[in-house]
Amino acid sequence: MKNPFKKEVISIIVPSYNEAEALPYFYDEVKSLAKEMEQEFEFIFVNDGSSDDTLTILRNLADSDKRVKYISFSRNFGKEAAMYAGFENATGDYVTVMDADLQDPPQLLKEMIKIIKEEGYDSVGVRRVTRKGEPVIRSFFARRFYKIINKMSDTEMVDGARDYRLMTRQMVNALVEMKEYNRYSKGLFSFVGFKTKWLEYENIERVAGESKWSFWGLFKYAIEGIVGFSTVPLVMASFLGVFLCFVAFLFIAIIICRTLIFGDPVSGWPSLACIIIFIGGLQLLCIGVIGEYLAKTYLETKKRPIYIVKDTNIKK
Ligand code: UDP
Ligand code: MG
Repeated sequence: MKNPFKKEVISIIVPSYNEAEALPYFYDEVKSLAKEMEQEFEFIFVNDGSSDDTLTILRNLADSDKRVKYISFSRNFGKEAAMYAGFENATGDYVTVMDADLQDPPQLLKEMIKIIKEEGYDSVGVRRVTRKGEPVIRSFFARRFYKIINKMSDTEMVDGARDYRLMTRQMVNALVEMKEYNRYSKGLFSFVGFKTKWLEYENIERVAGESKWSFWGLFKYAIEGIVGFSTVPLVMASFLGVFLCFVAFLFIAIIICRTLIFGDPVSGWPSLACIIIFIGGLQLLCIGVIGEYLAKTYLETKKRPIYIVKDTNIKK
């Protein structure tokens, strides 16, 4: 044997929400990968309140393979919560998150582990350079979103970056320390720092089942990212206020001059009405922005658990 010491362990976290169709393919793939690689493996499947047979499949896998651990939530808490549960329970020296639909090619792990070990990186992420197979509108808004958030936030968000990445134990410990309730992992990964190398690949369509993201769901996730990692919208509200005050002064000056020169005929109320509606709208918008931050603060102060476990085979 090449390595006389204990083998290093890679934990693979798999958030699974109604993935009964895709899981068998996924498990076969990672099982054969595990055989090829030198390291030991630990599979942590997180059943995120699925309503299909996901849990039954996971229990069967756990019965036949000692490396399989599962955590089953009491309801659907979202992929972010599922990943956090995985990070908290992973015991490996290296930890990775993979989608159950094989959109994150497991074969890349070989290259990732090599990069971490030989090139001294703490983490290797993957980003897709194409969005082939994705609805055009979704790609369009996704691109805009990354442009905007990178302007507004100091934390860099990489366009096309997936949650799939291999990390060292040190980095995972840092992530576990981030106990916020409103989680936006792309930001958190970047916030904790450490040296990350990006691998690029072409988008792969999911092997079975369908995407859990609706347009509205993605929109809310985007707001999560902005509110979680930037306070620029709040500053913008103040700037808008200052700007409008300036415009108002200018208008007052113009109106006074005009009245002094031309007298005071009563006219112009439609434009006045428009201005009032416009400013009223802006005020509501700004209150809405403040409200968004307040709402997030409110939820954070409650310190609710990020997820609730109903069933697991992990013994603590
Ligand atoms: N997922 C989850 N909880 C959810 C939604 C999704 O655990 O509420 C998991 C899902 O099972 C999959 C991964 O997150 O393993 C990515 O989801 P999906 O493939 O639907 O997203 P997409 O690839 O379309 O971005
Ligand atoms: Mg997918």
